[in-house]
Amino acid sequence: MYKKKFEAFDKKIYLASPTMHGEEMQYIKEAFDTNWLSTVGENVNEVERICAEKAEVKNAVALSCGTAAIHLCVKFAGERLYGKPAIGHGALEGKRVFCTDMTFDATVNPVVYEGGIPVFIDTDRESWNMDPNALEKAFEKYPDVKLVVFAHLYGFPGKIDVISDICKKHGALLIEDAAESMGASYKGKQTGSFGDYGAVSFNGNKIITGSTGGCLLTDDKEVADKARKWSTQAREKAPWYQHEEVGYNYRMSNVVAGIIRGQYLHLEEHIAQKKAIYERYKEALKDLPIQMIPFDEKICSPNYWLSALVIDKDAMCKQVRSDNEALYIAEEGKTCPTEILEAISSVNAEGRPIWKPMHMQPMYRMNDFITVDGSGRARTNAYIEGGVEDIGEDIFNRGLCLPSDNKMTTEVQDRIIEVIRACFE
Ligand SMILES: *Cc1c(COP(=O)(O)O)cnc(C)c1O
Repeated sequence: MYKKKFEAFDKKIYLASPTMHGEEMQYIKEAFDTNWLSTVGENVNEVERICAEKAEVKNAVALSCGTAAIHLCVKFAGERLYGKPAIGHGALEGKRVFCTDMTFDATVNPVVYEGGIPVFIDTDRESWNMDPNALEKAFEKYPDVKLVVFAHLYGFPGKIDVISDICKKHGALLIEDAAESMGASYKGKQTGSFGDYGAVSFNGNKIITGSTGGCLLTDDKEVADKARKWSTQAREKAPWYQHEEVGYNYRMSNVVAGIIRGQYLHLEEHIAQKKAIYERYKEALKDLPIQMIPFDEKICSPNYWLSALVIDKDAMCKQVRSDNEALYIAEEGKTCPTEILEAISSVNAEGRPIWKPMHMQPMYRMNDFITVDGSGRARTNAYIEGGVEDIGEDIFNRGLCLPSDNKMTTEVQDRIIEVIRACFE
């Protein structure tokens, strides 16, 4: 129960805000000086080269955002599996696709852009990512499914090797959304390089940013060239505007690419800063009834993009959430994400609830959701009533993201830690 009063920070402490270093401006200036201000230029070429190298894939295609990258991944997978659709139809029309449940909706929406039907796979407690056992159950229920869209949460890798093996066993393609996990690796291999198609994002709050931007990752040169064509309105080689298929305006600007090029010089530095933030929280909160977002140190090397925690069940005060609001009853010795987020906000800092699982979102309420025992939609609060637990919902109810800005000083973080600790008094 939060009763203590702490002084608010003069300058707002963000969850994760852009951190610029100077080289970005140099590359932007080069774009201006050479007048390469469209979607062609040295910065775009360099972003593609650097991104592919860092992500350990053969090709990266520079696009306007991560969502566009995922959309093209989905389109490639759909056409490979089901053939080219007639104009005006999606590549996945009427087809079910297994998707990560506890993620940002940009992981999943592109499936719908292509007419697919997302089926959500519950989360695994050990990794807070898609549960491979639940995925197996999903294949038992829907053996015809041929596509899986997997996202790594908050920069902490999921069990992507197991997921990849399951996909291979069932003859399904795998799209890997590494938008939050750039630079993170699993068993020594970069996230984004495991899937048949991968995507990263340079959105404003990601570990490095171009203000916007994304890359599609692929080992297939033909796919990369086709993605470049699709993303620039699908022009054919001809003296005029000749079109054989529907295209998109998804290519990255050479100005945006300049920012990203400068940011790549600091990716490892940002990861080290984020790691220090995570470790300070972990150490300072270790005697509280909480768990930090988990990972297996022996095989995962996260990028620590956001520090997140979950409150133990018996330390939770009563909290209820409607579609748009939250209420809680303050209780001595207990707290809840709503109270902690309010407390953090009262000192002019920013936290955030865990991504609300997709199966709980109103727009996806009719879509199936597969839990680890293979049942359909699990009952709300099953852990109280007994029965199958809906793990995504449980982590959403008891978890939150802490201020994780890499410009946060230790003094600032110490005060935030005091605020969090005070909530448990
Ligand atoms: C940020 C994000 C995206 C989308 O990236 P944009 O560049 O903002 O379009 C996709 N998936 C996940 C998991 C993300 O966090």
